[in-house]
Amino acid sequence: MKTELLDGKKLAQDMQLQMKERVNKLKEKGKIPGLTVILVGENKASQTYVRNKERQAKKIGIHSTIIRLPDTTTEEEVINEVEKLNENPAIHGILVQLPLPKQMDEQKVLRSIRYEKDVDGFHPMNMGNFLLGNQATLPCTPYGIMTLLKANGVELEGKRALVIGRSNIVGKPMALMLMNANATVTIAHSRTENLKELAQNADILISAIGSGHFVTADFLKSAAVVVDVGMNRDEHGKLIGDVDTEGAMGIASKITPVPGGVGPMTITMLLEQTIKKVEDELR
Ligand code: NAP
Repeated sequence: MKTELLDGKKLAQDMQLQMKERVNKLKEKGKIPGLTVILVGENKASQTYVRNKERQAKKIGIHSTIIRLPDTTTEEEVINEVEKLNENPAIHGILVQLPLPKQMDEQKVLRSIRYEKDVDGFHPMNMGNFLLGNQATLPCTPYGIMTLLKANGVELEGKRALVIGRSNIVGKPMALMLMNANATVTIAHSRTENLKELAQNADILISAIGSGHFVTADFLKSAAVVVDVGMNRDEHGKLIGDVDTEGAMGIASKITPVPGGVGPMTITMLLEQTIKKVEDELR
């Protein structure tokens, strides 16, 4: 079987070209979408993600800023920054980069973002509305995956989908989106028994574990569609996914590469949701 790569980078570039036009139209009406990311501490991976987000946002004309705070910042100080942004009419999207340093209650900080300005979809109001099927800002990674699957004509209805990982930002919302698309969904996690057997029965396999090359060829059903969310470093510091992509070649029908699969789509959905907030404001 020929395995097709699900090219998130290419789709992200195409979508961003269209977004640039949407931003230009907003600018003609005197509105510049504004996005601010708050980054607390020195986490290297977070610093890279935040830089990428800023670069991509600027490329399509979004006014993008980063507030960098030291590791020693208190929860109250972060919330103060969020509250200033809540009141700033030039800022339409606020994102607090996770993880936050241990001394902070992540949920409390996320709750302090005015939910209309939450572009990550992590505010309980957005999470709740999403769960209830109301209009909501969606968690960007699973939203990006759904967009990538749709753009590549992947059929979900009636299919057996396995999501490995149950985090609030990837696994749980991913499972809900797949269920809403009429897939029959199983969620696996670190306590799951017979994981390999479950995987071998999955038409769609989404891996969001955070363990390099954990999913090997023998996990895969023939012709499965495989989405690799994992971002891990191997012993040489190279970025690798949860899935042994090379081993999956010839077994999977479609697979997302790492890098160039899910990552670029996550950022694109963040930009999409920032622009949409401004467009909605003008409606
Ligand atoms: P997380 O919060 O650490 O969650 C990991 C999940 O994997 C947990 O639910 C955990 O189970 C499960 N797990 C761990 N070991 C397992 C095992 N041996 N078998 C089965 N399940 C296992 O991570 P996350 O934030 O969801 O991120 C997951 C990965 O995706 C990371 O590599 C992250 O860097 C990457 N990521 C990528 C993007 C992107 O845009 N490409 C975005 C977000 C995250 P328990 O719940 O039982 O502990």
